[in-house]
Amino acid sequence: MTAEILDGKRIAAEIREEVAQAVKKLQLELTRKVVPCLAAVLVGEDPASQVYVRNKQRACEKAGIEGRTHRLPADTSQTQLLELIGQLNEDVSVNGILVQLPLPSAGNGGAGFDERAVLDAVDPLKDVDAFSPVNVGLLMQGRPRFLPCTPHGIVQLLHRCNISVAGKHVVVVGRSDIVGKPMAMMLAQRDGSCGREVANATVTIAHSRTANLAEVCQSADCLIAAVGVPEMIKGNMVKPGAVVIDVGINRVGDKLVGDVAFAEAAEVASAITPVPGGVGPLTIAMLLHNTVLATRLQHV
Ligand code: NDP
Repeated sequence: MTAEILDGKRIAAEIREEVAQAVKKLQLELTRKVVPCLAAVLVGEDPASQVYVRNKQRACEKAGIEGRTHRLPADTSQTQLLELIGQLNEDVSVNGILVQLPLPSAGNGGAGFDERAVLDAVDPLKDVDAFSPVNVGLLMQGRPRFLPCTPHGIVQLLHRCNISVAGKHVVVVGRSDIVGKPMAMMLAQRDGSCGREVANATVTIAHSRTANLAEVCQSADCLIAAVGVPEMIKGNMVKPGAVVIDVGINRVGDKLVGDVAFAEAAEVASAITPVPGGVGPLTIAMLLHNTVLATRLQHV
């Protein structure tokens, strides 16, 4: 193996420590006691979602943030869920709201949810996932309020590993609203508004309808895979010396694997993120960062 392993876990720990310091600094600035608070809404019993929410809660506590979890049964109605979000919007002790996705689909005892309407209902000033149309619009215009957590984590990883993408060709495989699209937008920004030096890339977005995907990937100086298909990016799709960022988290049997065939790709790439221990921990760290930012916006 020749590639440098980009240690997301270590960098996430560094960011979480910075967040803990930022909480203390904010508290010194404010005249009354404020503890940043993140409210997570978990609907149904999806085991992976339960684990994610528990991990987020634990990470909050370590950083001096209060983590509250609102658990609702799978047969909760859309109206009841919107009512809870309305209450959290109004509650001044809550600074950030996150609705854990996916919401249960119809047939799990409930009628299913209009996910878009639920996310749209979150107050944009408490929208720490940056999914609301207001926050997406601000990002598009290069004046973001909150940056979406996974792409922001990747920007931080690149920045802290001294990897510049300016003038380079970045290929993002995947065009989801959560990862692919905002990732492409952030790396293509003119200035550093979405993460200091990590900007000015020439970006291609690839997806399931892209012709000659292997060729497109081979032209990338930096290849970011956010597909959700286990190990679909093979070593021969990676340009020698490229930086490979694997966003994928796929459960195969009792193992977690990424969207990149790690061992093959690591033979060719100059640097690569592992799964687990790459992008995943950074997503949580940036959620904490956004919660403190939200608290600051609401109080200072
Ligand atoms: P989505 O399913 O929303 O999007 C997947 C994208 O990949 C789509 O744009 C789809 O194309 C594209 N795609 C699917 N199959 C192919 C293919 N064979 N060739 C080319 N493109 C393809 O997924 P997400 O963006 O939400 O997540 C992607 C992965 O990242 C998942 O494994 C997920 O678990 C992981 N993830 C990890 C996070 C972390 O913290 N590390 C956070 C969020 C997600 P089309 O649009 O044409 O359908």
